[in-house]
Amino acid sequence: MTNPDGAGGQQVDTAAIQKLDSAHYLHPFTDFKSLNASGARVMVRGEGIYLWDSNGNKTLDGMSGLWCVNVGYGRTSIADAVHRQMATLPFYNSFFNTTNVPAARLAAKLAEISPPGFEHVYFTGSGSEANDTNVRMVRRYWEVLGCPERQIIISRDNAYHGSTVAAASLSGMSGMHAQGGAPIPGIVHIGQPSYLESGRGMSEDAFGIEAASWLEAKILALGADRVAAFIGEPVQGAGGVIIPPATYWPEIQRICDKYGVLLIADEVICGFGRLGAWFSSALFGIKPDLITFAKGVTSGYVPMGGVLVGDRVAEVLIERGGEFAHGFTYSGHPVACAAALENIRIIEDEGLLQQVAGVTAPHLKRRFAELASHPLVGHADSCGLVAGLNLVRAKGQVVHDDESFDPALGVGMVCRGHMFDNGMIMRAVGDRMIIAPPLVMDCAQIDEMIGRIRHCLDLTYADLQARGWL
Ligand SMILES: *Cc1c(COP(=O)(O)O)cnc(C)c1O
Repeated sequence: MTNPDGAGGQQVDTAAIQKLDSAHYLHPFTDFKSLNASGARVMVRGEGIYLWDSNGNKTLDGMSGLWCVNVGYGRTSIADAVHRQMATLPFYNSFFNTTNVPAARLAAKLAEISPPGFEHVYFTGSGSEANDTNVRMVRRYWEVLGCPERQIIISRDNAYHGSTVAAASLSGMSGMHAQGGAPIPGIVHIGQPSYLESGRGMSEDAFGIEAASWLEAKILALGADRVAAFIGEPVQGAGGVIIPPATYWPEIQRICDKYGVLLIADEVICGFGRLGAWFSSALFGIKPDLITFAKGVTSGYVPMGGVLVGDRVAEVLIERGGEFAHGFTYSGHPVACAAALENIRIIEDEGLLQQVAGVTAPHLKRRFAELASHPLVGHADSCGLVAGLNLVRAKGQVVHDDESFDPALGVGMVCRGHMFDNGMIMRAVGDRMIIAPPLVMDCAQIDEMIGRIRHCLDLTYADLQARGWL
């Protein structure tokens, strides 16, 4: 018997689902027509670090879904917490001077696990909404302080901060800005701290200072009295796992302090254990004023996002701001909060932060760096449980001499195809291949993953040779 939703492990009619999908479902960040030509892969089940599709193929999920399933698939205790909350109080809003039990408890828990100086949280339904909230919140902060001209937010090229109008504007991706009128006025960009892209002839440390100086130059060009905030991901995720030089963030902090500019750390990927700590700001030597979170807060089991609001901003908004005219129907959704509380309990009880920081991140760093010996791989690096490698046509003596492929060839997508076809999910960003595996992955599973990646790199190499691209 076929079961259209795949629940309970029954057979799924793949062709029927694909037909419904291509007839009616417009996928995010997707060329609709070309997807419809090939048909979407139908995922039906997950357990730990593995996924199964409707044809029974088992895949190692090197991307934690989309950087979010931090505690892995198949956590029945989250399902139970969600079920209990739905049966008790599935929804009530927080607008009418009301709250709910999980929202209040989660807010307190977040204050406990966030860096010193963060006692308050604003809940949203996603990371994009959280960054929209940041835009309105930092501008409101300056209005309350009597500086309404401080409106501009500085972000970076190739950043990813979400896909709503304001978040797409904060994002620095040219493909997004080419469509639909982003960026909106009042949001400007500086270069990203990509040593591979822009650091030629410099040490990494010198490049970090150089890249941070672009912020100071931009502030001076605009006039500090017009700049509200700077926003950045500690490690850029969707832009291709770009790990900045160690000198970069402390210098950014110094510049923000010098001009009184608020600092927003978008930790939607870097938070909730991905880099071996609840939040990664301290690891990079920064004390942000606002921290964006989403994804790992519920391990993706239920949508949720939010902003941790530091004391500098919270005191002004609370003591002097009056009503903040902003909010979402699902701010503090009791079911999402219940999922987050159980997710956080799992991370604590299983010691996942310690496991990542002390055991698996160092192991991944060692094993992933070995991939640089492959003839197709230029630079390979990792930070916590995110990692990325560059596919190159020929290797030079130093990374800046590596010869890249013609971007039009889409070599990254060719490689991604071999990964998908061979039980490994690794994402392509141009010709950079990236992973962000679930935090529950142990060292043996890391070894298994590296083996799969190496095998698929071999297949890609042979394929590119056959095409005459090497
Ligand atoms: C995914 C992501 C967002 C957007 O979150 P959504 O929940 O997709 O709206 C924002 N910032 C970063 C760094 C992200 O990775």
